[in-house]
Amino acid sequence: MGSVKREKEFSTGVNTRVIHHKDNFSEGTGSIMPPIFPTSTFVHGNEGGFDYTRSGNPNFRILESVLSDLEECKFASVFSSGVAAITAIVSTLKAGDLILCEENLYGCTVRLFEQVFNRFGLKTQWIDFTKPNFQEVISNHKPAMIWIESPTNPLLKIIDIEGICHFANKMKIPVVVDNTFATPLLQRPLQLGATLSLTSTTKFINGHSDALGGAVCTESAIWRDKLNFAQKALGLNPSPFDCWLITRGIKTLPLRLERQVNNASKIANQLADNPAIKYVRYPFRNDHPQCKLAKRQMAMGGAIVTATVNATQAQTYSFCKSLHYFKMAESLGGIESLVCHPATMTHASVSKETKIKIGITDSLIRFSIGCEDIEDLSADLNQALGTIS
Ligand SMILES: *Cc1c(COP(=O)(O)O)cnc(C)c1O
Repeated sequence: MGSVKREKEFSTGVNTRVIHHKDNFSEGTGSIMPPIFPTSTFVHGNEGGFDYTRSGNPNFRILESVLSDLEECKFASVFSSGVAAITAIVSTLKAGDLILCEENLYGCTVRLFEQVFNRFGLKTQWIDFTKPNFQEVISNHKPAMIWIESPTNPLLKIIDIEGICHFANKMKIPVVVDNTFATPLLQRPLQLGATLSLTSTTKFINGHSDALGGAVCTESAIWRDKLNFAQKALGLNPSPFDCWLITRGIKTLPLRLERQVNNASKIANQLADNPAIKYVRYPFRNDHPQCKLAKRQMAMGGAIVTATVNATQAQTYSFCKSLHYFKMAESLGGIESLVCHPATMTHASVSKETKIKIGITDSLIRFSIGCEDIEDLSADLNQALGTIS
């Protein structure tokens, strides 16, 4: 598998680093795997500097060290979910501040901004960051923060992270990149100039659909302190057990992702050849509108494939239901393949007008490709596609 450029010098490769993490907190026991610390509190004045689990726990620290090794950055802060990580970042802003957002963000990010933080005076402006006039838009709005996602959910638009960060950095505007779809193995936002790289570790990072988590990586100690303050002040901390599960999941991330990406690129081609499909979106296919940028910015095309079928909403829904291995469910990035109908599921909370504006149609389907045998996934898709015509 190709991999992103290594800037910071590590003496070991990423496959080794995700398995042999620094801290283990199992001194004197010989335990290969780290213990789980299910404790709410710690004796005052201990060596580790722990006091209460809302503000820190050995399992948070272990996970943070693996995540910063994976992202090749200085700091990582962990949270109870991706949405908790988003909340932590936004809690550093104040009433009247404007966040300039890519118009196709994850549905729950949109809901959080519009239905919660807007009530506290935070302003949001939604723009299409694939348009070349982003410099003008940023200069005109002078936002307190820029929020992008690439590839976007579910349309897989590719946003020029380096171009936006280069311009925003000159104006001292922090840029947040939601890197959940790419993972640090395919794309490193901090090396492209982002201030914060956010991930829902629930997805590819954990990879087994058995825990929720979120993380924010940064090179800035000031931001790390703000995020750790938010973790304890807002109660956004994860559980020690979930951190332990995610730490375990990461050990197979490179292996899982390689298999998933290989499967995904084959499935994208299979779908594109089927007459029941109107179009397919996959970042590394030549017919993707930002394919060149994707190949420059990402090491591989990822494991998510989006397609539009030649069918009504009801037919599209029953196509999803007639798949056998692709269970119809929210979430993505796990070892099992999933299919999602964004219009009625992940993006159900987005208004009808916005859906039309950004292209989330009733016949749009999002596939998260798992680790199964490609022959079985292909056959499953063919039998379900047969039900459309
Ligand atoms: C799932 C997801 C989130 C939210 O993460 P949770 O762990 O579900 O809270 C944020 N951004 C993207 C792109 C996601 O896919």
